[in-house]
Amino acid sequence: MTTNLLGFDLAALADFCDQLGEKRFRATQLFRWIHQRGVGDLSQMTDLARSLRDKLARHAHVQAMPVVSTQRSADGTIKWLFDVGDGNLIESVFIPESDRGTLCVSSQAGCAVGCRFCSTGHQGFSRNLQTSEILAQLWHAEHMLRREFDQQERVITNVVMMGMGEPLQNYAQLLPALRAMLDDHGYGLSRRRVTVSTSGVVPVMQRLSQDLPVALAVSLHASNDALRDHLVPLNRKYPIDELLRACAAYQQFAPRDFITFEYCMLDAVNDRTEHAHELVALIRRHAASGLSVKLNLIPFNPFAASGLKRSTSQQVQAFASVLLDAGIVTTVRKTRGDDIDAACGQLAGDVKDRTDVQQRMASQRQAMIGGVPVVALSDGLSVGR
Ligand code: SF4
Repeated sequence: MTTNLLGFDLAALADFCDQLGEKRFRATQLFRWIHQRGVGDLSQMTDLARSLRDKLARHAHVQAMPVVSTQRSADGTIKWLFDVGDGNLIESVFIPESDRGTLCVSSQAGCAVGCRFCSTGHQGFSRNLQTSEILAQLWHAEHMLRREFDQQERVITNVVMMGMGEPLQNYAQLLPALRAMLDDHGYGLSRRRVTVSTSGVVPVMQRLSQDLPVALAVSLHASNDALRDHLVPLNRKYPIDELLRACAAYQQFAPRDFITFEYCMLDAVNDRTEHAHELVALIRRHAASGLSVKLNLIPFNPFAASGLKRSTSQQVQAFASVLLDAGIVTTVRKTRGDDIDAACGQLAGDVKDRTDVQQRMASQRQAMIGGVPVVALSDGLSVGR
């Protein structure tokens, strides 16, 4: 069994060269061949001595995961389905825009957080992805697209860790992958162009702020704890005030002057103007500790098992108006790739669930009053609509 070199950041690759009795600087050459040129065949790395190439071939290889399918949306979005073994399939999505190309990357096969509105969350959790499996998504997409567009320069300008999984619950494997993305000998992306999205794993946010403070997005989705406990179960461990304090602390190190809050708009669940006012009050309270946020309102992409509906565009606009009137930068995310189930919250490869999440979610659905969502406000009001 040889080692997959896609699993290393540059420092770890230098250690690997060292262990083979080679000079550490060889790692830089290797790293460039792999990540900048997209070459996986060691014999083609022609500025390395033949003896080194032969030695590497005995101990190492460069291999992405098999691609099960490549789907293309009418809007140019591309979704890849990768086979990561043992019956688990994961997804990555490329979203082209006029001024950037963004790759949405998965960090786990499934997810243990179990957010109610998320297709991945409904599948349960199988396992963490290895660094090589996280980086292979970028490696495959970048070099396939360069060949397709007949382009030498970078195609993927931004990476968002917003695919399947909670990246901060797979921190040990995530960190080297982020380092390779940022490395000038790798993908050379700036910290502003790499975003980690979290449902709020507070202690690991603190570690990320010290290790590699890339841009941060937080899946908020609710304006009070009662509602967030229901939508994002991790909230029971790290409630909203604790999460927002952690965001304010992160911001001191963040590459942007704001933290992005994601808010999925769910009809009659979290989309009333009362919720928007509650959100304004929450953000204002934490602004005193230096927190500055940008709200990203995401139209829900429905899937059958969720039992939830998308807010109307009038509801979204009314909600956005309250935030904008309060001076909070707010955008409504355009839905991309929904004709190939590649839109936000729709990624759901295929996962051998090792948890009882599907059962748990089914009983939570039963707990909803007569199938009608409960609108929870922090003042104790609960209204079925
Ligand atoms: S939204 Fe993110 S954290 Fe929540 S279940 Fe989906 S993948 Fe996991």
